[in-house]
Amino acid sequence: MEFQVLKGTHDVIQDEASKYTYIEDLLTQVARLYNFQEFRTPVIEKSELFLRSVGESSDIVRKEMYDFLDKGGRSITLRPEFTAGIIRSIVNAKLYATQDLPIKAFYVGPVFRYDRPQQGRYRQFNQFGVELVGTSSYLNDVEIISFGYTCLNLLGLKNISLKINTLGDDETRKNYKEALKNYFQEHINDMCEDCKERIKINPLRILDCKVAHDQEYVEKAPKIKDYLSENSKKKFDQILKLLDELKIKYEVDDTLVRGLDYYSDVVFEYHYTSKIGNNYGAIGAGGHYANLVSEMNGPSLEGVGLSFGIERLFNILNDDEKEFELPHLDVVFMPLFKDEEHLNRIYNIVEKLRLYGYSSEMLDFNKSIKSMFKIAQNKGAKFAIIIGEEEFNSNTVNIKNLEEKTQETINLSDLVMYLDGSMEQEEHHHDECCGDECCCHHHHE
Ligand code: AMP
Repeated sequence: MEFQVLKGTHDVIQDEASKYTYIEDLLTQVARLYNFQEFRTPVIEKSELFLRSVGESSDIVRKEMYDFLDKGGRSITLRPEFTAGIIRSIVNAKLYATQDLPIKAFYVGPVFRYDRPQQGRYRQFNQFGVELVGTSSYLNDVEIISFGYTCLNLLGLKNISLKINTLGDDETRKNYKEALKNYFQEHINDMCEDCKERIKINPLRILDCKVAHDQEYVEKAPKIKDYLSENSKKKFDQILKLLDELKIKYEVDDTLVRGLDYYSDVVFEYHYTSKIGNNYGAIGAGGHYANLVSEMNGPSLEGVGLSFGIERLFNILNDDEKEFELPHLDVVFMPLFKDEEHLNRIYNIVEKLRLYGYSSEMLDFNKSIKSMFKIAQNKGAKFAIIIGEEEFNSNTVNIKNLEEKTQETINLSDLVMYLDGSMEQEEHHHDECCGDECCCHHHHE
């Protein structure tokens, strides 16, 4: 029997994994520009943590948690999102007591949801996100939105659609939920089963209903903007004004409510349709949370966060045929002799080159020279080094530039200098042909 990956999970291997790393590294660099610091929290947490934060009315808690009893009988959940764990860690370490606010965290790693697998929807997927804790200023809300926008731009995604809405403060939501309940009460018998549940637990969630038949009721539902408190309205206007000034385009979408219970005031999502017309759903999403820290028994601090789905970013970049800078092989060694003395001598050089920063491999000495060249080409190696009898005796190496199809015999002691020189030359050539904008695959660290 051949084992297969579990439904909704997928292997990410070789070049694809390098592309994930490229995306995560770029997002990490942007996070550093905004001075976020990395947080790594456990994959497993007490189930109660997510019940309390993500909330009982969310789809995540109602049907998507990967939870189990451990051998000690504790109810454990594989994290379905990061925010709850990050806030827990901040509260546990009491960072707010010793550090200046806001605390700025970024994270990356796998999350788990027992979701219905489909295009762009997995049961184990990866998120990269940021949290800014200890702030109620609209400036920090904008900082997070703008961070997301910058990330997408630097990944090369233009024409991002940013949807934004406000859920108002506690007071606003209390009144608005009441209004929605009254309105939907009249139609609920004609709506989907999920909505019949939602009206009881959290009528806001009905606005998120994707069932076509229910849309006419959703569209005519009361609008949050008519229920906003003075404070929430002012804050939302301030956010939009600064986004305008930053020339970040957005669309106010008053049905955007987000699937997690902890949000209040501003919420947002980034959408993108790839050049071949695929839309995998929101590629990133986030919002402000007013009560999450205090619900975790911390002080009453507000926060704002955002999370990207790495799979979705990868899918759209792949559709758009983005040219990723991938790891490459600098040098292959082609042994011409099979005796131990030759092989060991060559292997010594291979190890040295690696320590000098050149990725190197020694090819299988049982192969013919012809197939070694084929292998070198398949591996995308830039140089091939051949050490035959003559070179062996004279402490020289024959080095071939496989891209430029040139070759030279040089002293072994000059090898590193030679490689440094040709990489430098290439960089020079790169600057001349490309200027600052990177358009080629040349080595240019
Ligand atoms: P959320 O935590 O639900 O706000 O999701 C944040 C981001 O994670 C979304 O914008 C997606 O990019 C990604 N995401 C959410 N659910 C899935 C899933 N089932 N599979 C892949 N990516 C997902």
